[in-house]
Amino acid sequence: MSPLIPVEEALHQLLELMPSPSEVEELYLKDAWGRVLAEPVVADVDVPPEANSSMDGYAVRVEDLQAVSVLPVSQRVPAGSAPVPLEPGTAARIFTGAPIPAGANAVIMQEESVEEGTGVRFTAGVRPLQNIRPRGQDIQAGEALLAAGELLSAQAMGVLASAGIERVRVYRRPRVALLSTGDELVQPGQPLAPGQIYDANRFLITGLLQQAGVVSISTWHAVDTAEATADVLRKAAADSDLILSSGGVSVGEEDHVRNQVEALGALQIWRIKLKPGKPFAAGHVAGTPFIGLPGNPASSLVTFYLLALPALRRLQGLRYKPLSGWTLPAGFSRQRPIGRDEFLRVRVEEGRLVPQGNQSSGVLSNSLKAEGLVRVPADSCVEPGQPLAFLPFSVLSG
Ligand code: AMP
Ligand code: MG
Repeated sequence: MSPLIPVEEALHQLLELMPSPSEVEELYLKDAWGRVLAEPVVADVDVPPEANSSMDGYAVRVEDLQAVSVLPVSQRVPAGSAPVPLEPGTAARIFTGAPIPAGANAVIMQEESVEEGTGVRFTAGVRPLQNIRPRGQDIQAGEALLAAGELLSAQAMGVLASAGIERVRVYRRPRVALLSTGDELVQPGQPLAPGQIYDANRFLITGLLQQAGVVSISTWHAVDTAEATADVLRKAAADSDLILSSGGVSVGEEDHVRNQVEALGALQIWRIKLKPGKPFAAGHVAGTPFIGLPGNPASSLVTFYLLALPALRRLQGLRYKPLSGWTLPAGFSRQRPIGRDEFLRVRVEEGRLVPQGNQSSGVLSNSLKAEGLVRVPADSCVEPGQPLAFLPFSVLSG
């Protein structure tokens, strides 16, 4: 038996097997949410493009108010207009977002002023540059806004739009073929014959893929024969960028995925120092990357987050970011180490991490109550209150 390898080592090897995306397309920014930039974006304008007012009030020249507190109003500058230079010894009525007239060096807010005939009296002192947002305050021309490999989040779209970016070059989205294996599986909607169970993983993993921004998912089912498995693998490989299977990669004689992937491409099986989720496979089918998750639903969930998702992100072109969870005190104890890193489905109760229900790899329903996973290191006992690494599902999903 090969030794168990740490999950980080498995991830490292898995990422080596994943190609970077090569196909790039140009999209209008409005259509690019959730896509991954294939090229860096550099601003070619200043944001804001001109100094403007952050208040409704009056633009003045500070020096003009050294001797007097009343100034005549010489122009009106709403947002969207182009002011003329400020006539010396006068104030310009100005509104939030309107450009500062040349010569003005402060804005006095409306609440600190009283209209007097055709002029305005100021009731408070004035400092140079007050209430002026300088040109380029937010972004300066030539500044790198986003690097290749960054996700176009809502914030990223807003920032790019603020700099006038109309189109972006992004990677084509990967298409994923999702393969369930096993004679016992039937789809919801079908009656269960003796010995059968419903195919939970197809739906679990479809949802996880959708959360990860995958829109093209084809689903396949292979019964436990060599021929059926080979046939489905060939079809799944034909028009996908990744095959993600669950089950069929242990060493039992009903587990055909291993042999058939080896026959059509290449496969490595790792025994990972991980609970749940020890058997894990990766390779390729006729050149299409292949990842084999374990069949038990909780093992599929954990290995999807820890291994398949980072691999998928590589295929999507996203820059690798190591997971950073939070440290929280344990709300449980463990007397003896179990020799594998265990990821328990937990929720935070009164600030402590509390395992939810039965942690068997065949139990999925406790993941409904759980808010994330806590990592209990392989060689560790746990005392109540001991700090442990908590990975909320929202962090795991990215
Ligand atoms: P296997 O690795 O194929 O031996 O599967 C391990 C366990 O996971 C068995 O109890 C299977 O019935 C179960 N299993 C495999 N695939 C699925 C699936 N898609 N949905 C639910 N359970 C599954
Ligand atoms: Mg099976």
